[in-house]
Amino acid sequence: MGKPNIVILGAGYGGLMTAVKLEKMLPAHKATVTLVNKYDYHYQTTWLHEIAAGTLHHDRARIPVKDVINMEKTRFIVDNVIAIKPDEKTIKLESGELSYDILVIALGVEPATYGIPGLDDYAFTIETVNNARLLKEHLEYNFAKYHHEDEKNKGRLNIVVGGGVSGVEYLGELTNRIPDLCDEYDIHKTMIRVINIEQSSTVLPDFDPQLAKYAMSSLESRGVEFITGARLKECKPDHVIYEKAGKHETIPTYTTVWTGGVRTNSIAVNSGFTHNQGEIDICDDMRVSGFEDVFAIDECTGVTEKESDKLYPLTANMAIQQSDIVVHNVKALIQGEEEFTAYKPKRSGTVVSLGHTDATGTILNNRKLFGWKAVMLKKLIDNYYLLRLGGFNQLMRKGKFNIFY
Ligand SMILES: Cc1cc2nc3c(=O)[nH]c(=O)nc-3n(C[C@H](O)[C@H](O)[C@H](O)COP(=O)(O)OP(=O)(O)OC[C@H]3O[C@@H](n4cnc5c(N)ncnc54)[C@H](O)[C@@H]3O)c2cc1C
Repeated sequence: MGKPNIVILGAGYGGLMTAVKLEKMLPAHKATVTLVNKYDYHYQTTWLHEIAAGTLHHDRARIPVKDVINMEKTRFIVDNVIAIKPDEKTIKLESGELSYDILVIALGVEPATYGIPGLDDYAFTIETVNNARLLKEHLEYNFAKYHHEDEKNKGRLNIVVGGGVSGVEYLGELTNRIPDLCDEYDIHKTMIRVINIEQSSTVLPDFDPQLAKYAMSSLESRGVEFITGARLKECKPDHVIYEKAGKHETIPTYTTVWTGGVRTNSIAVNSGFTHNQGEIDICDDMRVSGFEDVFAIDECTGVTEKESDKLYPLTANMAIQQSDIVVHNVKALIQGEEEFTAYKPKRSGTVVSLGHTDATGTILNNRKLFGWKAVMLKKLIDNYYLLRLGGFNQLMRKGKFNIFY
């Protein structure tokens, strides 16, 4: 291969890390690297629930891409990817076309609403900085609006959250924000209902039961109502309908937050790669099955745990781990090597935040953590990521050092 043209789609955890590492590991004369992203900034998806609750300013979660990559080494294009055409080795962008020799797809996910009527139209999601901000503003609007109607509409003070880990994290942040919102808008705290509708018999059904129980009692003690074993059936602008034990119930609400599912980015799915239930099939070396020059990262992929035959949970940590393998194998491909490194997921633990002061999770060897220890670990993980991504500079600018609350 001459001087190949490497194109990376998406500047999330996986894509941006790939660009940063390629800058370090690949001399400029060996390849041209182009990074394409919808926005001129990278955002910390793992902090979006805080923006959505209004407990973190959105600028804290945004990192300008130019502050992290060397613009002389990596070409950065801010554009919307419309389609990938692997047979022609081109990418269709909103404002033109781009060709590649080696492609890295790291476009993340989009919400999956499983055909539940009304969710696409009326529910809020926590997926980008902009829709997290929209949810925050909407919540404030409804608190403000409550006082300005002749007939008081209590539905404005009901917040319904549907399922998932990010839903639990959002509930935690909400319980931190609600006392301040109540003070700001002269509303008594007892008027607010925060309701979680969960299909399983517990929240966090894929976690150790002790962790799930801890999360539920922590949130319950702060006023969250759980409706478990229930399915959201329909979402309307001013109410939701759910089904539990064969009965349909209605909750009046203007704020339904859907965190109950995601699916692989449809651009990646519709590009002609083989996929299984939406996740693109990839080989051990992170190349897309059948394409020796296309790699895919984290949320575009379906990596299966060999022992359980279950898909690995898609996390930021996985995306970062995979970027290491992708960079290594891109380099091997350019150098004409025949041996490629296989991706072996390392489970280093997971922490679920439950607001500023509480969290739960596991660390290496499945050791369980609760309370302030888990909060500290979560902040350590976040800060370590910033250090790896943009060095001491980024850590000081965006790091979380408020360790005592
Ligand atoms: C609220 C919330 C909390 C979470 N908490 C945690 C946590 O605590 N720990 C954890 O490990 N994981 C957590 N996750 C999951 C984690 O954020 C994802 O696993 C991770 O972001 C995946 O990284 P990625 O690089 O595949 O995709 P992303 O980080 O989503 O990046 C995708 C990138 O592609 C860009 N893009 C998308 N479509 C286009 C397009 N058409 N054109 C151009 N650019 C495009 C996006 O702008 C984005 O920059 C959380 C997720 C959410 C939503």
